[in-house]
Amino acid sequence: MKRDLFSLKNKVAIVTGGNQGIGKVVAGYLADAGADIVILDIQDASKTAEGIAEEYGVRTAAFTCDVTDPQAVDTCIKAAAEKMGTLDLLFNNAGICLHKDALLCTPEDWLKVINVNLNGIFFVAQAFGKYLTDHNKKGNIVNTASMSGTIVNIPQGQASYNASKAGVAHLTKSLAVEWADKGIRVNSISPGYIRTEMTGTVRQDWQDYWVSTIPFGRMGTPEELAGAVIYLLSDASTYTSGLDMLIDGCFTVV
Ligand code: NAP
Repeated sequence: MKRDLFSLKNKVAIVTGGNQGIGKVVAGYLADAGADIVILDIQDASKTAEGIAEEYGVRTAAFTCDVTDPQAVDTCIKAAAEKMGTLDLLFNNAGICLHKDALLCTPEDWLKVINVNLNGIFFVAQAFGKYLTDHNKKGNIVNTASMSGTIVNIPQGQASYNASKAGVAHLTKSLAVEWADKGIRVNSISPGYIRTEMTGTVRQDWQDYWVSTIPFGRMGTPEELAGAVIYLLSDASTYTSGLDMLIDGCFTVV
């Protein structure tokens, strides 16, 4: 194997939702593979970014940004490019989950989840795609979808989340085809149940039920997603675009 196949050296990677959970852990792995890191999060991620810079000796930056605000996203992408000199990669990962039965979901509930999980993914991908094409650059995007875009989780009601993630997987394919001739690859990962701040606060009997239905007999960790993101962002996957990679301990296989 060529030694640098999975290297992200000399690349700048944006990670949305990178202040905690999957985004934070994967950002550390991208830095370990050589990438400089820009975190966009609704929370102030400057401490997280500083920690990654110290641990991996890469350049980092953090911008507080609500991905549902297209103008703010555009401003942050431009500011990130200005600060880092260039942008190459995007791990488009910010998302929220609402456990609420469809019959109880208010219009505000529904719109909030769709806005962050689907519209936000589009706004960031679009701003990044515009940056790349305006600068005649190639680049790679990995969106975070979910196995919930393929199956329906129980016992919790979460129709808004499931629909938003199915949308992310198909948006990924649509952008992959539209941007194929521009040298921009677009793929998604679809994690199963992963132990993070998002899932850790869910009532224990639901967590126990989930674990009892996963063939691997446990939830996954954010670390177990990092290899897939590095693969899809690196030159190890130059003929791969429009893929939705399920990483779920066999949950969707049975
Ligand atoms: P998490 O621990 O809640 O982290 C998500 C991060 O995104 C948080 O820092 C969050 O800030 C931020 N965020 C939320 N809304 C935002 C917005 N409008 N603009 C910018 N940043 C925003 O979640 P996670 O478990 O790491 O999940 C990351 C992604 O993986 C999500 O897209 C999620 O749907 C997906 N996923 C997770 C699992 C799982 O089991 N954990 C499974 C499949 C897919 P706040 O803390 O303020 O919300």
